[in-house]
Amino acid sequence: MGQPTKSFLTLPIAALCVATIVVVLASLYVGAREVDRVALAGQQTTIAQAVNQHGLAHARELRLMTVWDEAHDNVSAVNLDWMDKYLGGYLNEVLGYDRLYVISGDDKPLYGSIGGAKGTLGMPLPPSVEKLVRAIRASKPQVPADHIQATQVSLDNGKTVEHRSIVDVLPIDGKPASVIASTVLPDHGSLREGSEKPSLIIAMTNLDESEIERIGNDFGFRGLHWVQDSTRPGYDSADIRSIDGASVGSLAWQEHRPGREFLSRAAPGLMLALLPIAAIAYLLLAWGNRQVKQLMESEAHAKRAARTDSLTELPNLVALRENFERLLDEAKRGGSTLAVVSIDIDRFKSINDAFGHAVGDAVLKACAVRLKKMMPENGCLSRPDGDSFVMLAPAVDAPAAAELTSDMIAALSEPFDLDSGTRVFIAVSIGYALAPLDGVTVGELTRRAELALRKAKADAEGEAVGFTRDMDAEVTFRLMLETALRAAIADGSIDVMYQPVMDASGQRVLGVEALARWTDSDLGPISPVVFIPLAEETGLIQHIGELVLRRAVEDCKAWPGVLVAVNVSASQIHHGDIVEVVREALEDSQLPPERLEIEITESVLLADEKRANEQMRGLQSLGVRIALDDFGTGYSSLQYLSRFGFDKLKIDRSFIDGAGDPAGSSVVLASIIRLGQDLKMTITAEGVETEAQRRWLQTSGCNELQGYLFSRPLTRADMSAFIASRRAEAKAVAS
Ligand code: C2E
Ligand code: CA
Ligand code: CA
Repeated sequence: MGQPTKSFLTLPIAALCVATIVVVLASLYVGAREVDRVALAGQQTTIAQAVNQHGLAHARELRLMTVWDEAHDNVSAVNLDWMDKYLGGYLNEVLGYDRLYVISGDDKPLYGSIGGAKGTLGMPLPPSVEKLVRAIRASKPQVPADHIQATQVSLDNGKTVEHRSIVDVLPIDGKPASVIASTVLPDHGSLREGSEKPSLIIAMTNLDESEIERIGNDFGFRGLHWVQDSTRPGYDSADIRSIDGASVGSLAWQEHRPGREFLSRAAPGLMLALLPIAAIAYLLLAWGNRQVKQLMESEAHAKRAARTDSLTELPNLVALRENFERLLDEAKRGGSTLAVVSIDIDRFKSINDAFGHAVGDAVLKACAVRLKKMMPENGCLSRPDGDSFVMLAPAVDAPAAAELTSDMIAALSEPFDLDSGTRVFIAVSIGYALAPLDGVTVGELTRRAELALRKAKADAEGEAVGFTRDMDAEVTFRLMLETALRAAIADGSIDVMYQPVMDASGQRVLGVEALARWTDSDLGPISPVVFIPLAEETGLIQHIGELVLRRAVEDCKAWPGVLVAVNVSASQIHHGDIVEVVREALEDSQLPPERLEIEITESVLLADEKRANEQMRGLQSLGVRIALDDFGTGYSSLQYLSRFGFDKLKIDRSFIDGAGDPAGSSVVLASIIRLGQDLKMTITAEGVETEAQRRWLQTSGCNELQGYLFSRPLTRADMSAFIASRRAEAKAVAS
């Protein structure tokens, strides 16, 4: 999970960092090279100019000699002594010129002196200098401006003449020399008549190693020297050319690369600066990665949590659906089976009520552990809600499913010895369906496993139930029945019949029990054993209950002194306001509350003990009595039930069968009657069918009797007749 997402973040950022550093370094490098290139070009220009400047400086110096009456006169007069003294001598010794030449106005060589030696008249110029002479003679010299110095000289006679010096670098005897050609003019006097053009002094300085080194020092070039080969490492070089562009030689100097120097100086600092930046980037990256990782982890955790039941850590309903789809798909593709097993703990609520929720939770966890051990490979055990589990078992066929589920029942009926020291027994109901036999969709299979489970619960035989086709038919039938029941309630075709409750002698009618009756036009009479549970499941019981109650309290007014008992279902206690319903019914009928009895079964106490208790107190405070119906069919002890303050105990029909039968359940029955008496409850026996039973019950201390022995449930009219006949009989007996 982590890797792709991590690199998704890391790679671009790392790449960005590296790219940034590379770009910074590269642009610094390129910049430095550009600086160096520009610097070199500058240096090459500078060196040429330096040489030229050297020449110009000499030219300025020489102007003192060449704009001078004395020089003009002596040169014109070709005065050898003077020229030796001032030109060949002074200029060589004091100003360091190596060669001096004098040329007449018409370009005849007049004088020459080399290296300060005594001058020679008529010494010819070196040939390379001739073009310089031509240039200075031109009316407009074709030389760059920085090679020429032109100044105006005002003579005494009012004339102004131009003094020129041209500077160049030329090979003299194969060696480079700085050459200055300068016109010779008077500073005050007048030009000598007859000569149109002035004489010239040509002064040369050898640009030998020491001279070049000096120039280098003046202009900041280290190690400046002449070279043949311009590619000496560590040195840069420039061609030195004369005005006409001819190469005079190459000057080389120690490299001065400001860009590279900048880089080499800045580099450590730069690295020091980049290092923390890289470190920060790295830390940011690491931090970001951690955040992303945490985010992904918490996301994964949330995802897991959303699919996990926190108590048992099994997959929850959401996860069940996902796994179901997947496993069903796999089974379909592999041509294999998938068993869907629904497991439900019977009466789990009573475990919670009796032992507390901590024990309930521990039991659920222990169940999960036991079931998980039995799960086939690649299966899925989930807890979709409350006290139920669903196991998806791949590659389990019908015989295997039967075996698996009966093993489950066996495993879960073993006692649970909890850490708290409590020992708990539970019973479970299991229903299952098989793919593809019983269904090929998640919905269908779930519904059918659920139907099988319902059947298992209803049967309560402690055996797992596999789905069968008739269950669907049952469902269809129930649906049809429900529709018909709704219609019956709506058009008032629910009837009430009454069964008498006799005294122990079986002679006197003490009360009647109101029993709902329904006869459908198509289906015929339908037993309350069928339609009452259906009405309870569908919520229709609220209507039926109120209907029966109102009818009963009304009908009962015709039977003075006779109590009327009305059955009330658990859902009426828990979902409706039964106290208010009863209060209104009594008010409307004006029946004294003492004549009404409400029968409830212990199942009322299972769902919500507290509310059940409140409602019972509410009913009793109206003056109504409460009977515990069907006692003995449930799980609770009489001690437990007596806490709820029942006024009457109705012992279930199933116990009465054995009344008086020495081998039967009469011992249990006798003890129930005695216990009920101790608890000051009126004891009623239901389902009395024989006189023998009646007699035994009478002697055992039973207060009231009900059963076919006396009468089946009767219509109101028949009940009136029954009561009348019994009263008549009693009168006859009495008289
Ligand atoms: P229950 O409250 O125990 O009612 C007594 C049932 O036992 C009645 O069945 C009655 O006909 C039957 N019975 C009476 N004496 C004998 C006998 O000697 N032998 C045998 N074998 N049966 C006898 P019924 O009328 O079919 O009612 C069945 C159950 O339906 C009732 O059991 C009661 O739980 C429920 N029920 C009936 N009417 C109502 C009603 O209006 N409201 C509610 N909530 N439940 C009702
Ligand atoms: Ca009853
Ligand atoms: Ca009963």
